[in-house]
Amino acid sequence: MSLRRLLYLLYQKQHFFRKQPKWKMVITMLMEPFQLAKPVLDRIEEYNHQAFFVGGCVRDFLLKRPIGDIDIATSAQPGLVQQIFDKVIPVGIKHGTVIVRHQHQSFEVTTFRIDGTYTDKRHPDAVTFIDKIDKDLERRDFTINALAMDKNGKIIDLFSGKEDLQNKIIRTVGDGYERFTEDPLRIIRAIRFSSQLGFTIDHQTVDNMKKVKQNIEGLAIERIANEFTKLFAGDYVHNGLSYLKATDIYKHLPIMIEYPYIIHLLPKRLDALYSFGEVIALFHITEPKVSVIRWINAWKCSNRTKHEANQLVEALYYFKNNGLDQWLVYQLSSDFYKGFTRLSNIVYPSKTVSYQELVETEESLPIKSKKDLAIKGDDLIGLFPHAKRGPWLQKILNRLEQEVVTGGLKNTELDLKEWVKWNPPEIN
Ligand code: ATP
Ligand code: MG
Repeated sequence: MSLRRLLYLLYQKQHFFRKQPKWKMVITMLMEPFQLAKPVLDRIEEYNHQAFFVGGCVRDFLLKRPIGDIDIATSAQPGLVQQIFDKVIPVGIKHGTVIVRHQHQSFEVTTFRIDGTYTDKRHPDAVTFIDKIDKDLERRDFTINALAMDKNGKIIDLFSGKEDLQNKIIRTVGDGYERFTEDPLRIIRAIRFSSQLGFTIDHQTVDNMKKVKQNIEGLAIERIANEFTKLFAGDYVHNGLSYLKATDIYKHLPIMIEYPYIIHLLPKRLDALYSFGEVIALFHITEPKVSVIRWINAWKCSNRTKHEANQLVEALYYFKNNGLDQWLVYQLSSDFYKGFTRLSNIVYPSKTVSYQELVETEESLPIKSKKDLAIKGDDLIGLFPHAKRGPWLQKILNRLEQEVVTGGLKNTELDLKEWVKWNPPEIN
């Protein structure tokens, strides 16, 4: 291609972008996830069934927010959906849900249904499949989540969800008292959405949340933890926390039942936290009387969350006493640098620290782990051939590690051995 032609094409491209109004580009970007899912709807319709985008993806599309998962609701029964797509993962056949894989993307496809009672506080005991979307939308929690959209962008809005989106209101579909009694998780979800979207909860809905709040205690804690993680990650976390406090709902959550004052001690300036490990670290630093392990056990957290909370707490205490140095960064897994930055800026606002500083400090570290030390346990045995193996070995390796990381000692065999000779271990 000649240079002239290339310049011409570039000019045209630039021209195109200049001519394209900004809002149109935003809409195109927002539509992209739906475009990827459209062939799934097409295929279901080829089999004479209805299919719609539904729930959070429609809500977020209308709000021009980034879209998470694309959920699809259909009149086709799960057996048929399994037949008509090549790659289907039957994640919840009993409840009508399968995952359809299409062009390396996953789409949750759920048959229109009405729910039975929730005795196990997790899933409805039984569901009934139906062939129209109306009742399926009616079983959904809030009006803003009860919206559906067909493949041409036509919205189905049976409960004035669009109006509530416009007025920034969270309101139950139908009678709040009944809906919260049916599944009390919805109480926590209302607060979670207020934290994510910055919306107000309709006052009648709040009244009903208060009436049913005690029932939260019967819920499976993993379900609450899942919503709580999203609550603390919300852009309007203050909004969510205000509702938690104003409704006294926190008094029905593990740990907070026993220590209801903790929530009031949280720092006033609170930014979003992106994992439950960060949330637990914050609560523990706020009230050290409740250990990390108690939080972990009471909220049935994973080992990963436990590891994360412990690492963060240790790093925060170290930071309080010593500030940011090589040793802190060396000890903290790089997966938690961002979380540490968020937390330290909340908990110790006078000592601001940036993610960039942590990364730069890490890059300047002479070693990344103990394995990188220029001498090993066997070399130490060589220096003290008459000594028996024992805890002294680990102790001196730890000391060498710290000296090297903090720059007191060069990581060469010669330097390390010399240091050991001048600082002989206590061997017993
Ligand atoms: P997110 O963007 O966080 O995924 P979401 O609205 O998609 O938000 P999900 O938990 O993924 O929330 O649920 C998907 C949809 O299923 C909701 O929009 C709502 O319509 C419905 N839903 C989920 N949980 C409940 C519930 N406990 N009671 C009633 N409807 C629910
Ligand atoms: Mg979702």
